Amino acid sequence: MEKKVFRDPIYGYIHVTDEFVWDLINTGEMQRLKRIHQLGGVSQVFHTAEHTRFSHSLGVYQNAKRFISDVEGLRAVLSDYDVKLMYASSLLHDIGHGPFSHAFEDALELDHEWFSLRILQEETEVRSVLERVGPCFVEDVAGIIEKRGNHPLVESLISSQLDVDRLDYLARDAYFTGATYGEIDVDRIIRTMRVSNGEIVHKYSSVHAIEDYLMSRYNMYWQVYFHPVGRSFEIILDKIYKRINVLSHQGISLEGTNKYLLKVMDTKNPRLSDYLMLDDYLIMTMVSENRFSDDAILADLSKRITGRKLFKDKLLPKGAENLYQELKQLFRKSGIDPNYYLKKDRLDSIVYSANFEIERAGGIKILREDGTITELKDYSSIVSALIDAAKKEEVRLYYPLDLVEAVEDESVRKRIKEILGV
Ligand code: CA
Repeated sequence: MEKKVFRDPIYGYIHVTDEFVWDLINTGEMQRLKRIHQLGGVSQVFHTAEHTRFSHSLGVYQNAKRFISDVEGLRAVLSDYDVKLMYASSLLHDIGHGPFSHAFEDALELDHEWFSLRILQEETEVRSVLERVGPCFVEDVAGIIEKRGNHPLVESLISSQLDVDRLDYLARDAYFTGATYGEIDVDRIIRTMRVSNGEIVHKYSSVHAIEDYLMSRYNMYWQVYFHPVGRSFEIILDKIYKRINVLSHQGISLEGTNKYLLKVMDTKNPRLSDYLMLDDYLIMTMVSENRFSDDAILADLSKRITGRKLFKDKLLPKGAENLYQELKQLFRKSGIDPNYYLKKDRLDSIVYSANFEIERAGGIKILREDGTITELKDYSSIVSALIDAAKKEEVRLYYPLDLVEAVEDESVRKRIKEILGV
């Protein structure tokens, strides 16, 4: 095959030399990722963060190639088939993501990994490309994405504490947000990796680069991924989905693009083709149309998204659950429906997974000068301190300040503003 080349701001060029990789990139399911932004609501804060899951997936593939060519001793322990597995699973690891993932998965209680597997296993273009590689290839790629343990080394390269995925998204998200704390010495990290007993270990000389990488990741979580304004955008989207769901269950017919969302929302087991219709553009078109809905709540929430009139946030002090309950009642009293206009956001799943990731980062293996292997957290006091620091919990309230300001009853308004500190 003639070599194909993509330009990329992180790597300069990404070269595609295998025909099946090129065919995978050109499937409808991969091309759909061009219509799904990597960071969803975060572009409300960092306005240039418009990069897509497509460019991230290509970047992960590029890292897979770098690992294979630059990690000393790695190519020798991988078969040609393993290399193909790495290429396919690096490209496809995010294939099932939906639009604005967090809001979407919250509201619909659907999990993108389930859709990733369905894209591999049902009648798709991706599946037909994978089937041409070999009879077991589809299931082997699925096994790596699901971490079934059949190819442990390849699985750990695709998904672990220092993998091809994280090394791309940190660098890419830092570049496109303009946040400087995502810059990491990836070359050094890769050059000092070794394979020992079928496992990746890191030479002691890379510890500073790894510490830097973990600090960057910690900072990116708190400064970028969990930024309250980005969350506010996702929370309002979540409320829009819920409102659409409620209206539809009341038998109110919703026009236009709402029907595509309803097809997926109305069942626990949506058709894959219906799911794949949904992307950022369709959702934003739907929101844009809903600004003119007859339903006042749906219209108002939709205008908040398009005009960036987002909810404000307030950190809820520990043990202040009673204040939240009081606010809910005051909102009701003032005709502001707390189901749609008040959110107590615990950042549950994402903070949990971030903490979990930082804790597990202790599990990175360091190859000492004397040839023995030890855990990173026992080798680096910076990392062990970071593991403690990461156990931070945050509960925030999100609410529309403009509606609070417009509350007529003066004593109610005063009390609400007192609680919210505005
Ligand atoms: Ca990813």
